[in-house]
Amino acid sequence: MKGFSTKAIHVGEDPSEMQHGDVVSPIHLSTTFAKKSVREVEEGYVYSRSGNPTRNNLEKKLAALENAKYGLAFSSGLAAESTILLALLKKRDHVVAFDDLYGGTKRLFNQVMERFGIEFTYVDAREPENVRSAIKENTKMIWLETPTNPLLKLADIKAISEIAHERDLIVVVDNTFASPYFQNPLDLGADIVLHSVTKYLGGHSDVVGGAVMVNDDEIYEKLKFHQNAVGAILSPFDSWLVMRGIKTLAVRMERHEKNAMRIAKYLEEHPLVERVYYPGLSSHPQHELARRQMRGFGGMLSFELKGGLEEAVKFVESLKIFALAESLGGVESLIELPALMTHASLSKEEREKVGIKDSLIRVSVGIEDVEDLIEDLEKGFRGIKQ
Ligand SMILES: *Cc1c(COP(=O)(O)O)cnc(C)c1O
Repeated sequence: MKGFSTKAIHVGEDPSEMQHGDVVSPIHLSTTFAKKSVREVEEGYVYSRSGNPTRNNLEKKLAALENAKYGLAFSSGLAAESTILLALLKKRDHVVAFDDLYGGTKRLFNQVMERFGIEFTYVDAREPENVRSAIKENTKMIWLETPTNPLLKLADIKAISEIAHERDLIVVVDNTFASPYFQNPLDLGADIVLHSVTKYLGGHSDVVGGAVMVNDDEIYEKLKFHQNAVGAILSPFDSWLVMRGIKTLAVRMERHEKNAMRIAKYLEEHPLVERVYYPGLSSHPQHELARRQMRGFGGMLSFELKGGLEEAVKFVESLKIFALAESLGGVESLIELPALMTHASLSKEEREKVGIKDSLIRVSVGIEDVEDLIEDLEKGFRGIKQ
């Protein structure tokens, strides 16, 4: 099995491995598993936190998507992130991170992990040399997100992994925005890739989950131990739901991208738009890097309106098809204002430092008919003037 869609559909769900020849993985709800004798050596399943057949099937599928040896499923993207940090770091260790991270990730770093003595330095990782300059004696990990949220900045995974590996540092890449269909960080040299499964992998805005994929045996053993020891596992029902979502990932991503490209071009030409951020546009400052390390540009974009917060509020509140909502990656189109919603936990100065203006609007382009989406955006522009 080589092709992405074939793997997405079949890995972890081989009928010849199922008790009754099921074509779809059954949901195993049992929390505990009986042994034939007291002295039976421990193999197979024992207790569902440590291992569950449905979750196991999903984990095989997750690994296949990122060309990885191992996959691990967690109860949310942040649960996956917490487990990575708890498994691989200790007091006084230092992490160099991209300054334009998902808000919840920054909150986990600054308001939780720092209390346990882990240190973080944020840099503009668009320039790999900025990462190198921030490395200290106690640096253990580099944490990237690419493309970033909400400004679609890119980090050069290959160049940064080379810098990191001169010092044996672990490179973690949050691949949520691109999805494994468009980008595979492990193939570019990263050590750990993570996903908020809640977004494109689940794909239907009906399940919260997280995933980690790795090749290194030692890193995997530590993560596996902590998945059980910390306990933030994905439930059997949710594991099944994520498997169901993944089967259509390729066709969904093709459509997300096609719609996003059309909308990005439409917005770029609109007189009331100041600027569009989408890696697929040749106007994107890192378009060349996007072409080099991604196979497609994804379904996320953002844009600045001419005007300020008031115009942006009127715009998003005039739409009918785009739901005014946080999150992303589902089949339905969503729109939001980072300054008041996803990035409201950052101070205005912090937002301005990374370039998030009050008039910035973030769009998760869904897979509806693009003509309907553009007609809806027209409503937004008319709404500004009222
Ligand atoms: C949503 C998101 C997360 C957090 O995932 P949850 O499933 O919400 O815990 C992490 N990184 C990125 C880029 C995200 O979009």
